[in-house]
Amino acid sequence: MSELSDKDVVVVGAGVIGLTSALALQRAGRKVLVVDPNPPGSGASMGNAGTIADFAIAPVGSPTLLKRLPELLFDRAGPFSIRQAALGALLPWLARFAWQSLPGKAQRNMQAIAALTKDAGPRWQDLADSIGAAHLLKASGCVYAYASPAEFASAKQDLSRRAAFGVPLTLLSPADLAELEPGWPRVDGGAVLFPNAQSVIDPQGIMQALTTTLIEAGAELCAAAVDTLSPHQGRVVLSLQDGRALTARQVVVAAGAHSKPFCDQIGDLVPLDTERGYHLEFDGQETRLSRPVCSAVDGFYCAPMVGRLRAAGTVELGGTKAPLTEARVANLARRFALLFPDLPKPSRAWMGFRPSMPDSRPVISLSKRGRQVVYAFGHGHIGLTLAPVTAELVTALIEGTEPLLSLADYRVDRF
Ligand SMILES: Cc1cc2nc3c(=O)[nH]c(=O)nc-3n(C[C@H](O)[C@H](O)[C@H](O)COP(=O)(O)OP(=O)(O)OC[C@H]3O[C@@H](n4cnc5c(N)ncnc54)[C@H](O)[C@@H]3O)c2cc1C
Repeated sequence: MSELSDKDVVVVGAGVIGLTSALALQRAGRKVLVVDPNPPGSGASMGNAGTIADFAIAPVGSPTLLKRLPELLFDRAGPFSIRQAALGALLPWLARFAWQSLPGKAQRNMQAIAALTKDAGPRWQDLADSIGAAHLLKASGCVYAYASPAEFASAKQDLSRRAAFGVPLTLLSPADLAELEPGWPRVDGGAVLFPNAQSVIDPQGIMQALTTTLIEAGAELCAAAVDTLSPHQGRVVLSLQDGRALTARQVVVAAGAHSKPFCDQIGDLVPLDTERGYHLEFDGQETRLSRPVCSAVDGFYCAPMVGRLRAAGTVELGGTKAPLTEARVANLARRFALLFPDLPKPSRAWMGFRPSMPDSRPVISLSKRGRQVVYAFGHGHIGLTLAPVTAELVTALIEGTEPLLSLADYRVDRF
């Protein structure tokens, strides 16, 4: 179609990473087209727990998790599980994940993640102000609650590692937690408050604000799925699944968990897979808590959001093709009911695809084709948190300017 013929920058994917990158590029004077078959922000970016988690510097793979991996993976109801049907396909990713969980690797990954999470809160404040969404960002910290003393004790090493990286945190006794969050069930262990964390109280609303601002800034949106990318004579040719084609000077691949085929087409082999995550929502129940509280043993947050309480989290390895696993939804509902026995039934359930690398570091990188194709995906559990810094780094890569930090740790060819 002629109106799609030749573009300046095309961003593939309108999740929080694609939208923030597109906005930063448009503000830098580029002419941006964002292509996505689905409504902007309707993937993982709208279903998350909403935490701007400057404290979330620990990679998923750690020596502690590695020891428990066999037990966890085959406990279908547990916080970290695997769809048996997907086991074969997942083995290469799992092998890399296990390798990255070794002590030296995990420490290195933490360092690489911490370099990105630093200043996540102020960056989000600036972004939210600039898109008229400051009212959707709440600066009230975030809590991890530990039900038993043993659970709390076993978390201490992880907490002191985070503190060593400069993450502010305050340990809370059961009485402190009861005072801070009277709606949370009584724990025997304790809790930790991450006071600098912020939360988005309506992820969908903030995606809408980003989209509106992007269009007002002059960017275009195209509702279509990109099928293939191929560099040709100084341009990148994008063929769309509906049969149309367009060319672009430069392309940003930000299709979240669906980014791998584009890397394959360019010739960059990347071990991207997905950690499927779930949420349940309870309409009208948001007043029970005043900030997101994570039940550490369950691996999910309870986050008060506009008009509802959202329980979001857990990991299910199982690829992007299979639908939501009903048994996991039922289990999440059961665990949640143990915390809040008086809650009504969930109003809705959702499953989405975290784009996950075995080392929990995102890919923010030039491709084999240099600045013609730039990658921005693989943000795993902290894509919302890292969106503003990623957008700034993507802009530097596209423009060929000096990035604010070294990108060696996030290169596509690091494996
Ligand atoms: C349960 C859960 C809780 C979470 N909690 C938090 C949290 O509290 N804090 C935090 O920071 N992060 C959290 N995350 C992680 C965060 O949501 C993700 O890292 C982030 O949303 C990833 O953004 P993205 O833009 O890369 O991907 P997505 O939001 O998934 O967007 C990718 C987009 O690419 C599009 N796309 C796919 N294929 C194509 C194609 N062929 N052509 C064009 N477009 C395509 C999709 O339609 C989609 O819109 C959570 C995730 C989950 C699942």
